[in-house]
Amino acid sequence: MGQPEGSSEASPGASAALEGKWLPPRRPTRQIHVGSVAVGGGAPVSVQSMTTTKTADVEATLAQIYDLAAAGADIVRCTCNEQAAAEGLAHIVPRSPVPIVADIHFHHEMALGALEAGVQGLRLNPGNLRKEAEIKLVASEARDRGVPIRIGVNAGSLHPEVYERYGGATPEALVESAKIELAYFEEVGFEDVKISVKASSVSLMIAAYRLASDTFDHPLHLGVTEAGPPPAGLLKGTAGIATLLAEGIGDTIRYSLTADPVEEARAGRQLLEAMGLRDRRDVDLIACPSCGRAEIDVIGVAKAAQEALEGRNLPVQVAVMGCVVNGPGEARHADLGIAAGRKRGHLFIRGKIVRVVPEDQMVEALVEEAERLVAEGVEARLAAADAGAEAAAEEDRRELLEAKGSDANHAGQRVELIRKTVSGG
Ligand code: SF4
Repeated sequence: MGQPEGSSEASPGASAALEGKWLPPRRPTRQIHVGSVAVGGGAPVSVQSMTTTKTADVEATLAQIYDLAAAGADIVRCTCNEQAAAEGLAHIVPRSPVPIVADIHFHHEMALGALEAGVQGLRLNPGNLRKEAEIKLVASEARDRGVPIRIGVNAGSLHPEVYERYGGATPEALVESAKIELAYFEEVGFEDVKISVKASSVSLMIAAYRLASDTFDHPLHLGVTEAGPPPAGLLKGTAGIATLLAEGIGDTIRYSLTADPVEEARAGRQLLEAMGLRDRRDVDLIACPSCGRAEIDVIGVAKAAQEALEGRNLPVQVAVMGCVVNGPGEARHADLGIAAGRKRGHLFIRGKIVRVVPEDQMVEALVEEAERLVAEGVEARLAAADAGAEAAAEEDRRELLEAKGSDANHAGQRVELIRKTVSGG
C-alpha cells in the first residue's frame, strides 16, 4: 500500500492519494525521529535538501532553510566543516522551521560540536571518517542525546580498504561499508540509524539500495549523488529514486542537483505527490496533449493556468482540456478542469459541468473555482453548479460534433491507409 497521509475521495486532492494505492506495500523498516520528523516504520516519505550557504553565515543559511521548507523540505542538512559552522548551527537550530542535520566529513570534532549546537541529526561519511575510536565516540554522544545518525556511504568516497576488497564501488562494497560502520555503532549500543548508499550511476545506486533493503531493517535515505544540473540531473534523480520507491524501498529522499537547492526540495515534494506518497500541497496541473479536436491553444492556456495557480497552496488536480467533446470525460478523475468549445470554457468538477464561461475568462474562472473548491469542498461546489451549465455544454458538444464529425483526428482515413498498405491493396 502506498501511504498517502490520509484523505478521502470526496476531498479535493484525493486524486493524488488514490494514485498511490497501486504501489506495492512499503518494505517494513524501524522508525527513527529526526527532531519532529518520523523516518521509516510507515511514516510518510520525507523530503530533504541541503543548504549551499556558509553555515557560519547564520542569516543567509536561515533564509535558505526557510525557502527550502516552503518548497517542500521536511529536513534540511547543513555542512559542519569548521568550528565557525558548528557555532553557526547553535544559532540556526533554534530558529529553523525544520529539523537540521549536520553533514560531517573527516573531522569527528565537528560532529561533537554539532551535537553541542543541538542539531537533530548527523550524517557521517564512513569513507572519510575512518578511526574506530572516533566513530564510537560520536555514536556514544549521539546515543546519550537521542540524536540519530545517517551512515552516508558514497560510491565516490568509498573506504579505500572496502574499495580494494571488492575491486571497485560495487553494490556489495557500498553495503559492506555501511555494515562496518553499523557494527561500530552497535558495539556502543547505538541503533538510531538511517542508511544511504548513494552513487552517481543510477543503475549502481538502484542495485545498492535493493541490496541494502534486503540487508538492513533501518530506514533508507535515497539519492542519486552528483546528478548534475537540471534537466538531466532531475531525470537521473527521478530514475533512481522513483524506481526504488515504486518497489516499496526508501523512507526519505534527496535530489542532488547542481542548482538552487529550492529546486531539489520542490522536485522531491513533487515526486512524492505524483506517486501518491504524500498528500498534495500545491496544484497539480494536467493537460491533454491536444489533437485535431482542440478548440484552444492547449499549451498556452495550460501554461497560463499553471502560472496563475502555482504557489497558492491549492492542493487540487486541475485539468486543461482542448475540447468539450472528450475533455470532461477524459479528465473526470481531476478535481477541477476546464474544456474549450465554441469560444467558451466548460468548467467541470470531477467530470460534471458546473459553469460555462467566455473563452478569455477560462484561467480566471479556474483560479476562482479552485479557491472555492478548497475552501468549501467538492460536494458544496457541485451543489452550487449553475442550473443551465449542463444544457449549455451539451449544446456546444452537439454543435462541435456536427461541425467536425466524430472523427476530427482523421483516424478513419489513417486506418484505411494502413489497411491498403498492409494488404497491398
Ligand atoms: S479529444 Fe479533446 S481533450 Fe482529447 S486530446 Fe483531443 S482536444 Fe484534447
